Amino acid sequence: MARVELVAPLDGVMLPLEQVPDPVFAQKMVGDGISIDPLNDLLTAPIGGTITQVHRAGHAVTVTSPEGVEVMLHVGLDTVALKGEGFSPKVAEGDSVATGDPLIGFDPDYLATHAKSLLTQVIVTNSDAMSGMTAATGTVSAGKDVVLTLETSAITEQEVAGGETVVSEAILIPNTSGLHARPAAVLANMAKGYASKILLQRGDDQANAKSVVSIMRLNLEHGAKVQIVAEGPDAAEAVNALAPELASGLGDEGTSPAPAPATQVIKPVAAPVPKRRSDDPNLLLGVSASPGLAVGTVFQLKRDEIEVPETGADPHTERRRLDDSVDAAKVQLEALQAQLHGQADPAKAAIFAAHQELLEDPDLIDVAESVIAKGKSSEYAWQQAYTSQALQLEALPNELLAARAADLRDVGRRVLSALTGQPLEQPELPVGTVLIAEDLTPSDTASLDRDRVVGFCTVGGGATSHVAILARALDLPAVAGIEPQALEVPPGTTAVIDGARGTLRLNPDEAEVTRIREATQRAAAKREADIAAANEPATTTDGHRVEVVANVGGIAEAEESTGLGGEGVGLLRSEFLFLARATAPTEDEQTKIYQGVASALGGRTLIIRTLDVGGDKPLPYLPLPREENPFLGVRGVRLAIDRPEILRTQIRAILRVTGSTRLGMMFPMISSLEEFRSLKQVVQEETADLGRTDPIQIGIMVEVPSAAVMAEQFAREADFFSIGTNDLTQYTLAMDRGHPKLAPMADAMNPAVLKLIGQTVEGAHAHGKWVGVCGGIASDEQAVPILVGLGVDELSVSVPALPSIKATVRRHSLEECQALARKALSSDSAADVRALVPLDY
Ligand code: PEP
Ligand code: MG
Repeated sequence: MARVELVAPLDGVMLPLEQVPDPVFAQKMVGDGISIDPLNDLLTAPIGGTITQVHRAGHAVTVTSPEGVEVMLHVGLDTVALKGEGFSPKVAEGDSVATGDPLIGFDPDYLATHAKSLLTQVIVTNSDAMSGMTAATGTVSAGKDVVLTLETSAITEQEVAGGETVVSEAILIPNTSGLHARPAAVLANMAKGYASKILLQRGDDQANAKSVVSIMRLNLEHGAKVQIVAEGPDAAEAVNALAPELASGLGDEGTSPAPAPATQVIKPVAAPVPKRRSDDPNLLLGVSASPGLAVGTVFQLKRDEIEVPETGADPHTERRRLDDSVDAAKVQLEALQAQLHGQADPAKAAIFAAHQELLEDPDLIDVAESVIAKGKSSEYAWQQAYTSQALQLEALPNELLAARAADLRDVGRRVLSALTGQPLEQPELPVGTVLIAEDLTPSDTASLDRDRVVGFCTVGGGATSHVAILARALDLPAVAGIEPQALEVPPGTTAVIDGARGTLRLNPDEAEVTRIREATQRAAAKREADIAAANEPATTTDGHRVEVVANVGGIAEAEESTGLGGEGVGLLRSEFLFLARATAPTEDEQTKIYQGVASALGGRTLIIRTLDVGGDKPLPYLPLPREENPFLGVRGVRLAIDRPEILRTQIRAILRVTGSTRLGMMFPMISSLEEFRSLKQVVQEETADLGRTDPIQIGIMVEVPSAAVMAEQFAREADFFSIGTNDLTQYTLAMDRGHPKLAPMADAMNPAVLKLIGQTVEGAHAHGKWVGVCGGIASDEQAVPILVGLGVDELSVSVPALPSIKATVRRHSLEECQALARKALSSDSAADVRALVPLDY
């Protein structure tokens, strides 16, 4: 075993690889290592050795040390798309370098404005062969500080040659940026799953398909013709699996059809993961952000960059200009909120209130002021400040927090517009617009004219972004994460947006347009009828009553829920009170808000979930050690038990609420009875201390499979269960709920998840306890009859879904629901379960 040290290739700040906002690096598919946020413009060798690869786009280079350690340095994210612009490589393949020798010069200003990020990855591509790796933290200096210390074991090849040789048909690389690091890593990872020796062959050149560097050395551009050659015991299997993946772009964003590879000889094996990209040029796929169906014409929304001068007047003047513009932005935000409250749109108003809070962030102002102090203009300084903070947020492996980056950029542009005088307004949109944009800011969405826009698609964003939340609040069909080709669709093209399925169909024929128009008319009429009947109870045709309550984040949503027939709140996500603040809210502050929600509900049921943060949802005032697997670490109640002062304060605040007919508190992420008992003990102590005599229900969220499996034991001690299917699904299927590639498979309608729901109901009912479902599946009309059939007593749904979920319950008989549930439990897959309850268009 030898010890090898890698020296900083840049001046900069170290960042764990897991926090890089690119799944291929963050999930270490290229190899293990670290990332550096650079503070200079020259990449130097972290170790002496031979240059074994220089990418033709000049953004990545690999050095192989005499011990066989392969280190790839990748400057920026998505920089392959710059096609060499902004980079000047100082070495060629085959050169020998010593530690500290220059490798790549780059233009940070150009990259800052043209690339997704400047974060530079230092990756040991053969990290599998290392027995240990220690990374430095903090700020490092190029050529001086050690950034990684490696313990190398003997570097060995584990593949088995000999036996059958199988060669694929020719494949044309469909990736528009060629086979760059990301798809190369995907291919290498797949190839490593086979014992055979696997080569990628182009003409006379060959590369080891299990090595990212070797693949990249082939410099395969879009349209390059290759074959896969495998030799070994599972050669045919490997070729059959890898050839179709390579031909379809290996999950890369940018692919354009190269002529189809000939695959007559090798029968492709169906990939278990549903294809993320459509083969039909008229069908573009994304994910559902807001349900609904509409037909209209495409309008491409492109946002002009705001030009800013770099140098400014004297710092005093620039600081005053910045202060004035921040004030002007705050006044605009006040006016927007007042207008939205006037339109009874408290959900949107709350988002702009959060924007106002972002403008109070002292860090943001501090960063801007320090840049101004260096003689820069206030525009430049402000742009630097908010974009750097947005990048940090985007790097967090938590969708909710990462989505706040969009808010920060939005409010940042508002101030920039005030500083430069460039207007923020959007162009006039034609009636019947299907809006397509790279991304929409909450401001864009809030100013959308509902009479002109029938739906929108964004290339960025996800189901939990504020844009998606706003779309649902506006009841507009929306698709997020759509294929990037959507940006190339000519304006004026007729298109059908299907928000529930997450698709955009282009150029539909007359018959389809008519069918969709009829379906949307039916849907609008149904929505109207559902709203008109919203105050009716959700009772099945044979008289079985289901309670339908709302998931809310605060008082405004609670108010809105009662107007839409909500019978109370089944989940108050209390963490919204704790995020976006510099310190934890006090007991009084919390009581005021919980009491506000209770009053807005006018005595209806209120279930407050205790703080669900930690792990992947960090709080600025609660520093926690970094964890290898945050979703399996100290989050939810595990954190609460660790931090009794926060827990007791919250429990006391909840216990001070009065006037609810049924007040409950529930604990997230419960996995054992011991945990629950210790929490119940705290509630009892605080109840006695406060002298509260009204009973309060104490329940658990069923989000961890162990709680579902042990429901019967829990039911002896808990007053109720609320099933959090979002987490229960991720833990049952071992699929990260935010993982872009696994998202289509992480469906709570999976029979395994349904079985756990059924088991929870059985355990609870055996002891006369009630069960609710508060995960996203409760708001899904296809799931509702199955949940009712499984015996769920309460559905806690998103506010706009209240009328339609109540109406769905009313359309079925309990007997029908039970028959459906039985079939669902014996189905083979989530898709089969969904087929039992088809959407009616
Ligand atoms: C869930 O996990 O289903 C749930 C309701 O909690 P959250 O989505 O807030 O984790
Ligand atoms: Mg959860």
